[in-house]
Amino acid sequence: DLATTHDAARAYELDRAHVFHSWSAQAEISPMVISRAEGSHVWDGAGRRYLDFTSQLVFTNLGHQHPRIVAAIQEQAATLCTVAPAFANGTRSEAARLIAEHTPGDLDHVFFTNGGADANEHAVRMARLHTGRHKVLTTYRSYHGGTHLAVNMTGDPRRWASDHASTGTVHFFGPFLYRSAFHATTEAEECQRALEHLEQVVALEGPGTIAAIVLEAIPGTAGIMVPPPGYLAGVREICDRHGIVMIADEVMSGFGRSGRWFAIEHGDVLDEPCVPDLLTFAKGVNSGYVPLGGVAISDAIHATFAHRAYPGGLTYSGHPLACAAAVATIRTMEDDDLVGRSDRLGAEVIGPGMQALAEKHDWIGEVRGTGAFWAVELVSDRSTREPLAPYGGSSPEMAAVVKGCQERGMLPFSNFNRIHVVPPLTTTDDEAREGLAILDDALTAAAG
Ligand code: PLP
Repeated sequence: DLATTHDAARAYELDRAHVFHSWSAQAEISPMVISRAEGSHVWDGAGRRYLDFTSQLVFTNLGHQHPRIVAAIQEQAATLCTVAPAFANGTRSEAARLIAEHTPGDLDHVFFTNGGADANEHAVRMARLHTGRHKVLTTYRSYHGGTHLAVNMTGDPRRWASDHASTGTVHFFGPFLYRSAFHATTEAEECQRALEHLEQVVALEGPGTIAAIVLEAIPGTAGIMVPPPGYLAGVREICDRHGIVMIADEVMSGFGRSGRWFAIEHGDVLDEPCVPDLLTFAKGVNSGYVPLGGVAISDAIHATFAHRAYPGGLTYSGHPLACAAAVATIRTMEDDDLVGRSDRLGAEVIGPGMQALAEKHDWIGEVRGTGAFWAVELVSDRSTREPLAPYGGSSPEMAAVVKGCQERGMLPFSNFNRIHVVPPLTTTDDEAREGLAILDDALTAAAG
């Protein structure tokens, strides 16, 4: 049935005629045809190879066409393609067990969704029913998904068009020293002031009205701001003191991306694990080979629904093909120590490589990140930190950097004035160096 779909020109023509694309002005886009992919590379319709420094939308954590994941999907398809959520199924049960084994603390129960947005929608629903409260506090500079509540929780311009119907969300500032909302000059100051600010927002909104504080343990698309030591533990403490549910959105940062199984582990203080009450995931859980997301649930919240039906569900909750991909992904991560690999890739190759770029290019205001999760903040003036493209927009300079990378055979992830370096965790050291060299050349060419 699919033999005729390999014609690139026809793929493009039919796309333009019939496919409506996300977040886009439909007449102004010309999507690249991807005809094939393997490991850290993709090929366009003309057969040109690109190093994928995006992991697509930061989800192919094990690269493209990983043989173990492909085989697991094929085996599951040959055995049992699908089964409704009310039944038990061995592949789904094993996926849930493996996820529970790696999530911190007592996050031992898993509700499966189709992706990240619905995972966040359900996490908030659980928190509201658990607390009997309605409001949700989330950060500016965040992304939580494209559905109604999730986009209202989001703290980036994609929220603006859908802000007319309140879902009870209130935004606050998370820590971000480079563009500090608190005029802080050190990480410690930023941490302390960000926590004081959150404490004030809680007090002024009314602690008894707040069901949950939702935050990306390391904000992803918004700029990969690794929180200062103590911040996540401080949020945990504020939640505990006010009976607020802490929800960590690990949709992008989870499953090894940050060099830990989950980025919330960067919040440990003196080896005390920082455990949220709910943790949402998607993307890296199965490298995005089949849509899957979910909520990992603590014992206390699970108990709320022990004798009270949880009012929510999805036709494809725990789809066996998606769960088979998750089982293969997580077992491969364990067997090949891909979390350690991600950590070393950041510490030994990407981090030092990006620091070297920062010394060379005046446009680089800051590089930051961890594991396979890095951002370079481009500025037109290092002293004023004027972004190379405005918040929410682009600029000819940013477009030139992106185009320069593509012309040299690398797909970069860009957002406003930032380029993110977010390759698969399986990227080799040489591939990572090659991608950084391309970024180096693209920056030189664009700066003229
Ligand atoms: N949360 C975070 C942190 C994300 O990065 C994303 C997607 O990029 C989402 C939620 C939404 O996930 P999905 O697009 O699968 O609904």
